[in-house]
Amino acid sequence: MKPPPFDYCCPDTLDEVLTLLAEHGEAAKVIAGGQSLVPMLNLRALHPGVLIDINRLPGLDHISLEDGQLRVGALARHKAVLESAAVSEASPLMALAYPYVSHGPIRNRGTLCGNLCHNDPASEMPAVALASGAEMVLQSAGGTRTVAAEDFFTGMLSTAAEANEILVEVRVPRAPAGQGAGFHEVSPRKGDFAYVAVGATLQVADGACTGARIVCAGVGDGPHRAYAAEDALTGAAPGDDAFRQAAAAAADSIDPSEDFHADADYRRDLVRSLTRRALADAASRCN
Ligand SMILES: Cc1cc2nc3c(=O)[nH]c(=O)nc-3n(C[C@H](O)[C@H](O)[C@H](O)COP(=O)(O)OP(=O)(O)OC[C@H]3O[C@@H](n4cnc5c(N)ncnc54)[C@H](O)[C@@H]3O)c2cc1C
Repeated sequence: MKPPPFDYCCPDTLDEVLTLLAEHGEAAKVIAGGQSLVPMLNLRALHPGVLIDINRLPGLDHISLEDGQLRVGALARHKAVLESAAVSEASPLMALAYPYVSHGPIRNRGTLCGNLCHNDPASEMPAVALASGAEMVLQSAGGTRTVAAEDFFTGMLSTAAEANEILVEVRVPRAPAGQGAGFHEVSPRKGDFAYVAVGATLQVADGACTGARIVCAGVGDGPHRAYAAEDALTGAAPGDDAFRQAAAAAADSIDPSEDFHADADYRRDLVRSLTRRALADAASRCN
């Protein structure tokens, strides 16, 4: 299929992008890597009047560690994030999850920020952002605001970003010292979207779990945080008994959709087994 007709702008500055977004509003779409947007256009799922290409903007491909935060700009490609030492240092969970994100050619063009804005329900990075307490820095002609990940992902392929805003940067707090992380997923082939993915972080002190985050992808309209499973772990001795209970609570907390690939029972089973594995890995990496 071919995309519907659209006007195309490729500005050189962020100010021009913001002016165009203010002018065209809902009729405009930002294009970054195009790895989700172009398929959506070709499927005629979207009909934007104007595409605003941000690829010429200078200074937005940064991946840096500043003031205890990992900062990833709008034009940092998946490949650069995957290979970044700053990412491995600041966010072991993101580093563990990134190899599951798509295939080489897509990683060369696709961006982390585009991935977060697209918010595919089976996407790994929205779940990682949710587990990590990430913040999205959104800019419009009217100014800049910051939105927490828990408020950013609002539903199927939708976010709190307004039509006149661009996500200029995602900020991920550096993981606390001693925290362990684990990430597992099941997908049809390596690099394909997950049937289900589960990420976990764990902190342990004096033989008891003191903090846990458990997130799932592929189980609903967007990333899912399993609060009851996290609560079940607080104060428990890290080990298979506690991880089984938490995994059961995580499976109970979802109401998964069904499709050609996986029915709801299978997805619940995957959440149960992947949560146990992710927690066991996280525990083995606590120090
Ligand atoms: C075959 C295939 C397999 C894939 N497998 C996976 C996978 O396993 N896991 C996974 O997570 N993803 C997967 N993807 C999607 C891929 O990760 C995309 O790169 C990503 O979802 C979108 O990033 P992008 O830069 O290409 O965004 P684009 O396609 O350019 O844009 C996506 C959406 O975000 C908006 N947007 C982009 N950047 C900004 C911004 N800075 N501010 C505001 N809005 C913005 C666009 O307007 C559009 O609505 C796959 C894609 C393909 C084609």
